Amino acid sequence: MTGITRREFGTFVGATALAALPLPAIAARNKADLAASKGPRIVVLGGGWSGLSIAKYLKQADNTLDVVMVERRKSFFSLPLSNLWLGSLIEKAKLSYRFEDAAKLGGYTYFNASMTELDRDKRRIQTDKGWIDYDVLVLAPGVEYDYASFGVKDPAAIQSLKKHYPAGFVSQQEQQIILDQIKNFEQGIFVLTAPPGIYRCAASPYERACLIAANFKQRKIKGKVVLIDSREEPAVNGEGFLAAFEELYGDTIEYMNSTVVEGVNPEAKIIKTDFDEIKFDGGAIYPRTRAARMIEHFGLNDPASPQKEAKIDPFNYNFIGDERVYIAGDCRPMPFSKSASVAHSEGKHIAKVIAARLRGKATPWITPQSICYSLVSAHPKEAILSRSYYRYDQATKQWAFDPKSKSYNSRNEALGKDALDWGDAHFRELFGA
Ligand SMILES: Cc1cc2nc3c(=O)[nH]c(=O)nc-3n(C[C@H](O)[C@H](O)[C@H](O)COP(=O)(O)OP(=O)(O)OC[C@H]3O[C@@H](n4cnc5c(N)ncnc54)[C@H](O)[C@@H]3O)c2cc1C
Repeated sequence: MTGITRREFGTFVGATALAALPLPAIAARNKADLAASKGPRIVVLGGGWSGLSIAKYLKQADNTLDVVMVERRKSFFSLPLSNLWLGSLIEKAKLSYRFEDAAKLGGYTYFNASMTELDRDKRRIQTDKGWIDYDVLVLAPGVEYDYASFGVKDPAAIQSLKKHYPAGFVSQQEQQIILDQIKNFEQGIFVLTAPPGIYRCAASPYERACLIAANFKQRKIKGKVVLIDSREEPAVNGEGFLAAFEELYGDTIEYMNSTVVEGVNPEAKIIKTDFDEIKFDGGAIYPRTRAARMIEHFGLNDPASPQKEAKIDPFNYNFIGDERVYIAGDCRPMPFSKSASVAHSEGKHIAKVIAARLRGKATPWITPQSICYSLVSAHPKEAILSRSYYRYDQATKQWAFDPKSKSYNSRNEALGKDALDWGDAHFRELFGA
C-alpha cells in the first residue's frame, strides 16, 4: 500500500509562513437580523462547495435544525468547469448561481455577511452585520495564496501579481482577468505554474494549459503556453496529459517538469526558476495554497501543517478539543484531493456526524470521493478522468488511496460529455438549476 505523504504531492519550497493577518475591523456589535431559531442553530461559514453541501444535507439529516449559511459573496461562481469558460467553450451563465435559490431548495437561511471574529466560549461569531450565536459552527472558508512560498514577499509585487497575472483558483474576478488576457493575447509566452504541496484541483493547471493552447491554435495566435511544474510529471492523469501535450499541442505547449519557481518579477514579466529565467507576455501564476487565514487567526490550525490547515479529528471533522466547531472543505489537513467532489461528498458525511451527535449518537466514517474530469481537447470535447477514494491504515497511521481508485487516461468524447453532465447534476442538486 502506498501511503499518501506530503512529499508525494511535492516539496515545500522555501516556504515562509505569513504572519496571521488581522481580519477586517468589526463594523457591527449588534445582533444579526435573523429570525429566532426554532431548533439547535448550526452556523455554516462559507457558501462554497463544502458549505453548500453541508447546509443542504444538515437539513436533510434533521429538518428541525436551524441552519444558517454565512457567505460574504452575493452570488455563487463555480470554479469547476471554469477552465472551459477560459477556453471559450461555455458561457459564464453556466457557472453562475444564486445563493437564495440554494437556500430555498435546501430549506436553510442564507445570510450575506463577512465573518470577522469567533468566541468559542460564548459560542458566538461576529460578522460585519452583527453577531450570531451557534450551537454548532462549521467553518468552510476555503484556501488563500501563499506568495511568500515562491519568494514573493513585497506587498506591492504581490498586489501586482494578483492584479495582472492572478492564479485563478479562488475567485471569479481572477478568472475574468485571465479570460481578458487570453482574448487579447497576440503573441509570445503565456506562463502557467502548478504549485507544490496539495493545491486546489490537482488536474486544473494541466487542463488549463490544454484549453488555452487549443484556443491559441484555433485563433492562429503565435503563442506558446509554458507550464512550469516542480514534479516529474503531472500530479494526476500523467499519462493522459502527457499524451495530449505531445499529440495535440506539439509546440503550443511546453511542459517544464522538475522545475522549481524561485521568484517572480511581475513588472519585468520574468519568472526565475532553479534553471533559468523566463520572460513571459501573459499568464496565470499559481503559488502554493494555504488554508484561509481565518483558521490560523482563530488558533484552529495545526502548527505542524506547512499549509496552515486545521487541527481536526480526521474522521469526524471537529476541531480537536471542541465538538461544537467543525472545519471542512479545502482547509482540511487530510491529504485528500482539494476538490469540489471531495468537499461535496465529505459534506454529506459531516452533516450526518453533526445531526447524529446532537442526538448523542455516532456515525461511521466513509471515504470521500474525488471525481475529476479534465478536458484535454476542445474540438471535439474530449476528457480524461481521475476517480479517487481513500482509506486510513491504522498500522502505519497514514492515509492511502483505496484500491478502487482509478485513472482513465485515454481521452474520449464520452468523458467530455460526462464532465458537463457532472456539473449539471451538481448545480441541480445544490441550486435546483
Ligand atoms: C479552475 C478550477 C477548476 C476546478 N475544477 C474542479 C473539478 O473539475 N472538480 C472538482 O471536484 N473540483 C474542482 N476544483 C476545485 C474546487 O473548486 C474546490 O476544491 C472547492 O471550491 C473547495 O470548496 P470549499 O467550499 O472548501 O472552498 P470555496 O469554494 O473556496 O468556498 C469558500 C467560501 O467561503 C467564503 N468565505 C471565506 N471567508 C469568509 C468570511 N470571512 N466570511 C464569509 N464568507 C467567507 C468564500 O467567499 C467562499 O464562498 C476546481 C478549482 C479551480 C480553481
